Amino acid sequence: MIRACCIGWPVTHIRSPLIHGFWLAQYGIEGAYTREAVEPGDVARFLHSLADRDLAGCNVTIPHKEAAFAAMDEVDPGAVAVGAVNTVWREAGRLVGMNSDVVGFLKNLDDHVPAWEGEVAHALVLGAGGAARGVVHGLLSRGVPLVTLANRSLGKAEAIAAAHPGAIRTHDWQGLPAALGDVDLLVNTTSLGMSGHPSLDLPLETLKPSAIVSDIVYVPLVTDLLARAAARDHHIVQGLGMLLHQAVPGFARWFGVTPEVTPELYEHLAADVRGR
Ligand code: NAP
Repeated sequence: MIRACCIGWPVTHIRSPLIHGFWLAQYGIEGAYTREAVEPGDVARFLHSLADRDLAGCNVTIPHKEAAFAAMDEVDPGAVAVGAVNTVWREAGRLVGMNSDVVGFLKNLDDHVPAWEGEVAHALVLGAGGAARGVVHGLLSRGVPLVTLANRSLGKAEAIAAAHPGAIRTHDWQGLPAALGDVDLLVNTTSLGMSGHPSLDLPLETLKPSAIVSDIVYVPLVTDLLARAAARDHHIVQGLGMLLHQAVPGFARWFGVTPEVTPELYEHLAADVRGR
């Protein structure tokens, strides 16, 4: 029996057991994936006791991702760029961590718009939180020539830009509609549009017809931004695919099978999002 879990505080909202449980059944693996509520301040101790708890590894969610990063013996470049870890495994007595949001975002984009890399000369990323750092790192790692970062608190966007000298422009939030004209990929990484939050009131009239519009918010499955973009015939990329793809590296490390993100898995999670 191989065991893994997700740690957070609280943990009741976490959907990753649905994903990993689906794959364990699909691949006939004798394994278990549970939620573990870990108090803030207890993260490093929990992670260093993975072997004693007979856990192959874990996912890490809010508010523990930065504390987990600090507890690792080794991390991938995505985790360094974000300053946070969401996937942990054991390797020869060492704790290894990665930030799989970066590959999750990129794989989701690859799935929905396979030719995007050749088409995107300028990406505009909205937001400057943890998710934005991962998205920006992912886009730059794929060679996007120009990334513009816009955020309500401009200083946070400027801090991310300073960590990537010469690669990122920043833009103030109020003047955003004027910035859309030459954008090939628009990505919302703010919490605007999420169920229970205000919507993202950004007029899309100045966006090129060929522009791709991606929203990493996945509750609801189609945000108001994506609905308006779809109505204008833009290619749209929903956030749920990113959640599914970011789960792949952990499952592969812990359970020894690289799982597929299938339409059946998507529907399994989508039904849960619609039902809650
Ligand atoms: P975060 O670190 O808290 O950042 C939130 C961002 O939203 C900040 O840029 C913040 O701007 C902005 N924001 C919040 N309220 C705003 C408002 N009223 N007007 C303008 N901007 C506002 O959160 P995060 O971890 O980056 O996550 C952001 C979103 O991504 C969440 O909805 C989360 O569920 C989603 N997400 C999805 C996936 C996935 O797998 N699909 C993965 C990670 C995250 P300020 O800096 O000005 O506060």
